Amino acid sequence: ESSDGWRMLQLRKNLPAYKEKDAILNAISQNQVVIISGETGCGKTTQIPQFILESEIEYFRGATCSIICTQPRRISTMSVSERIATERGEKLGETVGYKVRLEGMKGRDTRLLFCTTGILLRRLLVDRNLKDVTHVIVDEIHERGMNEDFLLIVLKELLPRRPELRLILMSATLDANLFSSYFGGVPVVQIPGFTHPVHSFFLEDVLEKTGYRLTAENQIDDYGQERTWKSNKQFIRKRKSQIASAVEEALMSADFRNYSPQTRESMSYWNPDCMGFNLIEFLLLTICGNEKPGAVLVFMTGWDDISSLKDKLQANHLLGDPRRVLLLACHGSMASIEQKQIFEKPEPGVRKIVLATNMAETSITIDDVVFVIDCGKAKETSYDALNNTPCLLPAWISKVSAKQRRGRAGRVQPGECYHLYPRCVFNAFAEYQLPEILRTPLQSLCLQIKTLKLGSISEFLSKALQSPELLAVQNAIEYLKVIGALDEKENLTVLGRYLTMLPVEPKLGKMLILGSILNCLDPILTVVAGLSVRDPFLAPLDKKDLAEAAKAQFSRDHSDHFALVRAYEGWKVAEHELGGYEYCWKNFLSAQSMKAIDSLRREFLSLLKDTGLIDGNIVIYNAWSYDENLLRAVVCYGLYPGISSIVHNEKSFSLKTMEDGQVLLHSNSVNSRDSRIPFPWLVFNEKIKVNSVFLRDTTAVSDSILLLFGGSISKGDTDGHLKML
Ligand code: ADP
Ligand code: MG
Repeated sequence: ESSDGWRMLQLRKNLPAYKEKDAILNAISQNQVVIISGETGCGKTTQIPQFILESEIEYFRGATCSIICTQPRRISTMSVSERIATERGEKLGETVGYKVRLEGMKGRDTRLLFCTTGILLRRLLVDRNLKDVTHVIVDEIHERGMNEDFLLIVLKELLPRRPELRLILMSATLDANLFSSYFGGVPVVQIPGFTHPVHSFFLEDVLEKTGYRLTAENQIDDYGQERTWKSNKQFIRKRKSQIASAVEEALMSADFRNYSPQTRESMSYWNPDCMGFNLIEFLLLTICGNEKPGAVLVFMTGWDDISSLKDKLQANHLLGDPRRVLLLACHGSMASIEQKQIFEKPEPGVRKIVLATNMAETSITIDDVVFVIDCGKAKETSYDALNNTPCLLPAWISKVSAKQRRGRAGRVQPGECYHLYPRCVFNAFAEYQLPEILRTPLQSLCLQIKTLKLGSISEFLSKALQSPELLAVQNAIEYLKVIGALDEKENLTVLGRYLTMLPVEPKLGKMLILGSILNCLDPILTVVAGLSVRDPFLAPLDKKDLAEAAKAQFSRDHSDHFALVRAYEGWKVAEHELGGYEYCWKNFLSAQSMKAIDSLRREFLSLLKDTGLIDGNIVIYNAWSYDENLLRAVVCYGLYPGISSIVHNEKSFSLKTMEDGQVLLHSNSVNSRDSRIPFPWLVFNEKIKVNSVFLRDTTAVSDSILLLFGGSISKGDTDGHLKML
């Protein structure tokens, strides 16, 4: 055991951060705020909190320090705290602990607590001054997540009230000066990095080197693509033609003179909207046939393309052979067994391949990576304030991200990085990604500002590192008033207070609350969970009709939401028989989504117990035995003001909303198959603007339901809609 400890210490001492230990501790003792920047993998997250902990224990014996270190993600919170406990030869929950939503490990002696940013924000709710906390470390600030930007405003205001509190901000990129000036010019400690050289190839070089040919056929991914993609076809086509002409132009330029005619021809087939599953498979096979050892890290956009690619690779005779390849996924919703395997060395002769989201860019370091394959995209939420429409789309990454991805290949030895897009596209990437606060809806954030009693919403947000557009702020406040979470004076209502206890979007929170009160929680848990995950109804492009027909079997009540409830209930039964896979396959359902819904249901249930809205002993069992009107009421209560009127004409019907006029139904909706709907209204979860506005996830409701449950119960704001009648 002691030799283990010795080995750990040697490992730690070899990290670049270790050599800066004194400089870091010095800066912290002399300044209230310190910024530390250093390349990913240099030891910021695992070492710096430990330096503070150790020096507190060593020099201030008897003093009880309390260090909080925030992480943007649940997964890294758990894996990092566990790693540090191991390095210290302890069990998790002794001096080092963690806390994430609904889970944690923390003991009486815990001095260093890792938690998600959301957890610290919740703590501030009851402990405004962070009494007894000695150090706050905010990690990964370069990611510019909304919660982190928000936390920084709150902490900045807190510092004068707590002069002895120390704030340490850690960043993986060099734009530390932005943060330094935000806090009035505080010192930046720079940890010099070291990585081995990485040879990088852009698409044209990959083709030239390997002789792989792009064709119209292999430039299509064989999987049911993300729902938003399809409805955004028009938009994508436009963007695609812009990129295509940039590539065309590049092909004509002098840069391409040295490439073979085959490569040049191949490049003209490149499809920017294709993740390149076929090329990735080809490259993995090439790497596996290579003598050079080392793990492969493939950057994808999310669990949907990761799991589709994983299925494809598993069907390959070499890549799917566990004696030769250890194929792993790394994304926000993976199981913890998989998490551990990511860091482990595979058996000799086995090649480790990790399919990851941008999480592996900076917050998780896999040491033995030698090869990186970068598809150049990440899922990005964006928000169009003008149309008040949010979307989640795979988007091109920034230059900084592409460099981070490349750097992952040079941890242990010189590496190789394959970017699956041309150099000219890289040159057109933005330098940095736009901070989240500037590109997402602000409703939840505004609620949080009110809950923390931080005064006027717009005044508070004007103090951010980069303030969001005024229009975006106004839209959010207006929405919260309409749904009854804020009153006219922008004060929290009773409903608003309940909503802040539930860490989900306000509309989903409203459904959970009313579902609890009306005692029809079981199906509502499924509806809410279903709206929180990727669309469980798959729609592969080549089997669209079959998939739509499969969905229609679950439809009886003019509601996509209830179709989901029935699909889930069927899965629940099938799960006991064959794990539910065959059922999913037959019905074009995503098994991953079904499992995610299952675990989210449990999560929401325990959150609701915490709010006191339901009894701790409530028994939940699936069976369709609910009054259908009750369910429509709950769904309407949540989705209002997302509502359109149904106008029937001879053969069919048309839809109209107050803001957009005529709108269309997304073809995926069960209601798009009917020519008549025996209700006057449709509530919808989402509208997407392309050339026209499309509604998706809809439920039909009656006049009386809209009148009673539209807006808030206390404030029936349905006048406008009544006039439309
Ligand atoms: P930074 O925060 O600067 O990116 P980290 O402190 O996360 O760096 O990582 C330092 C080193 O510790 C890396 O070499 C990384 O691979 C290793 N490490 C981090 N977490 C784990 C883990 N859970 N298991 C094994 N090694 C880990
Ligand atoms: Mg880190």
